Amino acid sequence: MSELTFDEWKKLSNKITFRNKAFINGKFVDSISKKTFDSINPATEEIITSVAECNEKDIDAAVKAARTSYEKGYWSKMPPAERKAILLKLAELIRLNLEELALLDSLDMGKLVLDAVTIDAPGSAMFFQWHAEAIDKMYDEIAPTGPGDLAMVTREPLGVIGAVVPWNFPLDMATWKASAALAAGNSLVLKPAEQSPLSSLRLAELAIEAGIPEGVFNVVPGFGEVAGKALGLHPDVDCIAFTGSTPVGKLFQQYAGQSNMKQVWLETGGKSPNLIFADCNDLESAVNMSAFGIFFNQGEVCSANSRLLVEKSIQKEFVIRLIEKAKETQPGNPLDPQSKMGAIVNEEQTNRIVSYIEEGKERADLVTGGNRVFIDSKGCFIQPTIFNNVNPADTIAKEEIFGPVLSVIPFETEEQALKIANESEYGLAASVWTDDLSRALRVSDNLHAGTVSINTVDALNTVTPFGGVKQSGYGKDLSLHSFNKYTSLKTKWIKYKT
Ligand code: NAD
Repeated sequence: MSELTFDEWKKLSNKITFRNKAFINGKFVDSISKKTFDSINPATEEIITSVAECNEKDIDAAVKAARTSYEKGYWSKMPPAERKAILLKLAELIRLNLEELALLDSLDMGKLVLDAVTIDAPGSAMFFQWHAEAIDKMYDEIAPTGPGDLAMVTREPLGVIGAVVPWNFPLDMATWKASAALAAGNSLVLKPAEQSPLSSLRLAELAIEAGIPEGVFNVVPGFGEVAGKALGLHPDVDCIAFTGSTPVGKLFQQYAGQSNMKQVWLETGGKSPNLIFADCNDLESAVNMSAFGIFFNQGEVCSANSRLLVEKSIQKEFVIRLIEKAKETQPGNPLDPQSKMGAIVNEEQTNRIVSYIEEGKERADLVTGGNRVFIDSKGCFIQPTIFNNVNPADTIAKEEIFGPVLSVIPFETEEQALKIANESEYGLAASVWTDDLSRALRVSDNLHAGTVSINTVDALNTVTPFGGVKQSGYGKDLSLHSFNKYTSLKTKWIKYKT
């Protein structure tokens, strides 16, 4: 774990060399148009660097490089044990550059550098390592056809994968896609979010250093409406792996239909319910984790526990304790290891959150927070905010705010809690707090969610699949199940004389 001080992080940020060009066919290149866009630090509102702005032509060049590398088989036909060794080297290189990678994400999108260096960057190394270690242990199948027939079912890479990712966990979201897609033998064109391209560009450079052949891992920074769309519409991309908002996820379904019917896997939005029953004896943990569940990463988490459903008999006590936790979680400079919450990604998202808060003030009881604040007179910071007695039908209880804003909704019966929890267009994650095992399992069975955490929040690990139901998308990241997105099954059937 990094033990750098605030001053040391600041010094390191002044020394860093930003990779700001597109990464195509193993090289950093300007965008064909030579256009760039500014990457802005939301904590200081200063320009960090200007980044190559890719358009349709750059996307086409990256897809061609990916296709060529795939067809030549340098990577796709490499024996799994050799691919594994290279990906393990990449994991090692990430570990050797942990502080730099963490700093890139913190500067780019405002998250606490301490979180980035203890959670995001080590997580990225672990995801590459885990998928690398899996690939030479996965066997294909012989189907039970009977004598005279030998039917082999083999798993093949899909070809060229387009990965389009958001800004809230820039390195980790890129890695969730890249680790499984590359381990399976595909070539990749990664489009990072325009708000946070820097760690993906450094990752691509490390991939080459690890030994991933040229053209296998390409990164095309640029805007969603241009670069993301061009990737979604490209006729030679076999699959889009997307993480981002639900409306943009729906656009990718349309792009696929308008072009080559490429496979589309979507990890989209969420409005996760966190159900606190009065029979939960460890209220201390429930309070602490409920606060973590909404305030971690400034609430910019797809599975953020943004709806707190609490049994009416304990509502008063629970909310008082939650307010205490919120007060301890005030924003500060993201590079200061003492800060408890970082900056919101940009001005636009800050204004969006503020407008939800203003709407909430008219409809529910604001019990703490509710304001934008500045650190050293600048930056995009929002106080941890709690609304009590929110009507489940209100906008702040229904729409994904993607900020540190919690809606507390009381309930009286288990049935009522389940009804409120499930009345959502989303189904990414949910949490349940109870000491009654039967209730825990019964409620989990009936919640519409890809992951249900019991007596914790946001349970997530490389070994378990992550992904939603309903308009939170479909297809799983992490675990062996993630390979299903990046491979297809082929049957080879031989007749022989018995
Ligand atoms: P976004 O949908 O605006 O952008 C995501 C990506 O799509 C970016 O790379 C962006 O450039 C691209 N994009 C935007 N408009 C596009 C268009 N018209 N055509 C093609 N590509 C386009 O999302 P965001 O604001 O970056 O991230 C926040 C969202 O991501 C939230 O809704 C959050 O819930 C979701 N998210 C989901 C998960 C998950 O695993 N389910 C994880 C993290 C974030």
